[in-house]
Amino acid sequence: MNDVTVSKFGSVAFSTPDMVKRTADVIMSDDKRRYIIVSAPGSRNNEDVKMTDLLFILNSRYENREDFSEMLNQARLRFTDIVRGIGVNFDVDAEITAVKKNLFFGKGNDFVVSRGEYIMAKIFAEYLGWKFIDAADCIFFGRDGTLDMEKTFAATEKILSDVSHAVIPGFYGSVGGTGIKLFPRGGGDITAAIVARAVDASLCEKWSETTKIYSADPAIVDNPTVIRHITYEELKQLNYMGVNVFHEDVIYLMQGIGIPIRVRNIHDVDDEGTYVTAELPADSHRSVAACIAGKRNYRIIHIEKFGLNRLTGIGQKVFGIFTERNISCEHYMSGIYRFSIVVKNPLFDLKRAEILQALKDAIHPENIKVEKNLSLLTIVGKGMGTVKGIFAKIFNAIADAGIKVKMIEQGSDDLNIIIGVYDEDYEAAVRAVYGAMILN
Ligand code: ASP
Repeated sequence: MNDVTVSKFGSVAFSTPDMVKRTADVIMSDDKRRYIIVSAPGSRNNEDVKMTDLLFILNSRYENREDFSEMLNQARLRFTDIVRGIGVNFDVDAEITAVKKNLFFGKGNDFVVSRGEYIMAKIFAEYLGWKFIDAADCIFFGRDGTLDMEKTFAATEKILSDVSHAVIPGFYGSVGGTGIKLFPRGGGDITAAIVARAVDASLCEKWSETTKIYSADPAIVDNPTVIRHITYEELKQLNYMGVNVFHEDVIYLMQGIGIPIRVRNIHDVDDEGTYVTAELPADSHRSVAACIAGKRNYRIIHIEKFGLNRLTGIGQKVFGIFTERNISCEHYMSGIYRFSIVVKNPLFDLKRAEILQALKDAIHPENIKVEKNLSLLTIVGKGMGTVKGIFAKIFNAIADAGIKVKMIEQGSDDLNIIIGVYDEDYEAAVRAVYGAMILN
């Protein structure tokens, strides 16, 4: 590993001239920060539209043959305001004219939207006096739309091998020679992961305004603790439960070679943030559980039939019926005469009659029951399943809160315990488990 840091800054870091200057100060305060991934400018206030969204609107207006001049002008003014405010010599008009020209040449939505990061990165490179490297020269998508990893890593590594300090726009790469393709929203994180891997960085940072990773939802638990250390595996579990710190692909790319990620908050630069690593450091005094997360609004479908235990292929038939309708079976439980599936609503409700009929035809059950309003609460913590007395702790807390448990599942990877409770008990259950598992 090389002793360099790749730092991705989210849109807020480029929202105003003052934020751009603060971002530069953060970079200069640590000389290991040598590869900077830039986002398009964020909104300056509640009425403002993020540059990325503005460009999406601009392109759709163009495609619908509506007037888009207002959007183009707003983009021009936003960049001009930044350029003047930070005092760099940069021809914004030439860039905006190029966007317009390429719009007429039919370069498409992804090209237009990518210009938010492209222009901002060029301006920022000028301000820092560092080299601008276009992501289109480093990141390549195949014709099927997936990232061409081999070509991407080879090109990025080669280009950056001669460049000690670079500013690189996030969120896009090139496709088919001259085209541009965007990553999913928030995809600048993926650019950062690619660059970190290509330069074999010892750290990849993500700076944004929202990213403090709490051990429980602050809307449910008062002042939950901030998680200081979490493992890649634990974060993947949280991603699945809707705590989206960054795109799954980022964890995949970083975990593959063990580059630590550090999540920081640009409004609180003294806060140490959260480290994501393969293992918890020996001096981390974290509780076994990292976090309590969850989601509401699931359904459980119970299929009851005498002699079910003696039949073979029940699971296959049931899963097949859901798969054919593109509904993922989140969990299942099997009893002696009962097979139960947990699915997400509202997709299930849309196809409910059709699915129940298909289950009846395939299995001829005595009874099918659908239970509504189930919430799933997940307690995430690496190795948690192996700790003695953990179940007693959790279920005593839930029982003391007077909550009925509908379902229990211990992940086979010892990373989580999932508990199903009725929606109306969900918040009380989160508070009870938080008290028992995080505070104690
Ligand atoms: N600017 C893009 C977005 O708003 C990408 C990013 O911020 O990472 O989604």
